Amino acid sequence: MTADSGLVLLIEDEPQMRRFLRITLQGSGYRLAEAASGEEGLTQAATRNPDVVLLDLGLPDIDGIEITKRLREWTQIPIIVISAREQEEDKIRALDVGADDYLTKPFGAGELLARIRVALRHAATHHGSEEPLFVLDNLKVDIVKRQVFLDDREIHLTPIEYRLLTVLVRYAGKVITHGQLMKEVWGPAYVTQSHYLRIYMAQLRHKLEADPARPRFFINEPGVGYRLRVDMEERRS
Ligand code: CA
Repeated sequence: MTADSGLVLLIEDEPQMRRFLRITLQGSGYRLAEAASGEEGLTQAATRNPDVVLLDLGLPDIDGIEITKRLREWTQIPIIVISAREQEEDKIRALDVGADDYLTKPFGAGELLARIRVALRHAATHHGSEEPLFVLDNLKVDIVKRQVFLDDREIHLTPIEYRLLTVLVRYAGKVITHGQLMKEVWGPAYVTQSHYLRIYMAQLRHKLEADPARPRFFINEPGVGYRLRVDMEERRS
């Protein structure tokens, strides 16, 4: 018997996918609420009080982007979107309107469970105060003193580099789209100037990664954005 890990609301119209998710999640101690349509999903989100939502983007009635928008009108519950290959652009739009993360089909059980753990951890810490100290392997960010250390050696960052790093730290473990990063670091007028982001990300990697060409911390999510890894043992497929 496994301990209760939380209630997952699964909004997905494909029975086979639901079966796979049900087996995976229940095997790890999650309780499940299932909805085969967007309308039913919205109702269950409001009535069942789930801890995390797994949301398929391609639903028969309301699309996942619209569902994300409607949920964000009243709740900050973590939303992980599940997309098919042909929904790549929709995935980014879903993240931009408030989804927390995404998985592209097909994905493995281990990856799904890791993403859910990150989402739940975030939801838990967001209720408390911001962590004053962020530690990831040999990288240490002191948010209060605005200092960055690598192996206890202080690293000097420019103001833009530091701001970029703190946004990544704030969303640690979750994917942030290029547009979101641009908006948070440079402001809403710069959301399309993604070459700035590439330049500063390269600088940040150069200063903080042992091998900038094979980053351990600042993970590229091709075509979507970046993610600051939190679990150094986490295996990505
Ligand atoms: Ca579908």
